Amino acid sequence: MPISKKDRINREHKKADAAGTRTPVKANGNPVKAPTPMSKCAYCMKEIVASNQTQKKVHAETHDQKVWTKEKCWPDDTFA
Ligand SMILES: [Zn+2]
Repeated sequence: MPISKKDRINREHKKADAAGTRTPVKANGNPVKAPTPMSKCAYCMKEIVASNQTQKKVHAETHDQKVWTKEKCWPDDTFA
């Protein structure tokens, strides 16, 4: 008797688990994307995509630059 599709998928999962290569998938089979790392502005707590330096700079400039520089907004980042 040929193995069912379910058995075959289970077998693949076990194999991937053993190899440590299994990627999490949703119930519909689509891969689950890792959440985008976000940075939080230390001034107003607004979240901006951590890798988006331009957006972070633009956001920081909405605060008063005399009292709150972009380095204060994003203390974990260094700006060029
Ligand atoms: Zn802010």
